[in-house]
Amino acid sequence: MKIVKPYINVEKFDGVKMMKKIERAGRTCYKSHVTSEDSYKKFLANIISSGHESVIEHEKITIRVLTDRGALWDITRHRITSFSVESSRYCNYSKDRFEKQIKFMEPFYIKNDEQALKEWTETMETAEKNYFKLAEQGYKPDVCRMLLPTSLATEIVMTANLREWRHILTLRCSDRAHPTIRQFTIPLLLHLKEELPEIFSDIPYDENFDPKDYAKLEVIDEI
Ligand SMILES: Cc1cc2nc3c(=O)[nH]c(=O)nc-3n(C[C@H](O)[C@H](O)[C@H](O)COP(=O)(O)OP(=O)(O)OC[C@H]3O[C@@H](n4cnc5c(N)ncnc54)[C@H](O)[C@@H]3O)c2cc1C
Repeated sequence: MKIVKPYINVEKFDGVKMMKKIERAGRTCYKSHVTSEDSYKKFLANIISSGHESVIEHEKITIRVLTDRGALWDITRHRITSFSVESSRYCNYSKDRFEKQIKFMEPFYIKNDEQALKEWTETMETAEKNYFKLAEQGYKPDVCRMLLPTSLATEIVMTANLREWRHILTLRCSDRAHPTIRQFTIPLLLHLKEELPEIFSDIPYDENFDPKDYAKLEVIDEI
């Protein structure tokens, strides 16, 4: 068994280029023209504040995340999003390519509770041991997966347009969202506030969430 930390990779994009494209698309509605190098700033601020948000659907962002199965269940409720998810039906964790071990996400929210951590660790060890026993008996991962807990590490690639990202991040960066989701949504939102300020600066987030628990964010050329 291996205990792992979350990460988030964001596919590289040119924020200014994106915002200028959205400006050009949006101005079609009014038959108006780009007036200066930074006229997109005021235009986008107006688009967002007036709720004319279909215009920002013209651009999308893709991320790759390592999180737990619980966060997967929550995040895949967002329907206007495309997902590719590590499948517990096809991944056989008893095989060499998985290093014959199951990866579980570090339960950071009980990190200071020794007793709770002990119980969590025992449960994960038992789940892994019994998963391998079923696999040895010849059961396919399709069957063995019934023993996998919510803490199972799971890789997800997700793509959404900017309007849907605004919606997802508004819901999932708040203190009402599960902590394992906030681990990756808050760093993503902070990144988007920097790269696309005219589109994401108004979205609030749980500022009491400890940055030490953020997923490590890396911008990469290709997801
Ligand atoms: C704090 C929190 C607690 C939650 N607790 C629970 C829970 O206990 N149980 C549970 O089952 N779920 C729960 N959810 C999930 C929640 O009900 C939504 O399913 C999830 O947040 C997806 O959001 P959405 O439907 O707004 O958006 P998306 O699927 O992301 O869609 C975006 C928007 O498109 C529009 N839209 C999409 N599909 C339709 C449609 N079919 N008809 C009309 N408009 C549509 C809506 O305006 C929607 O807001 C919870 C979510 C949060 C954030």
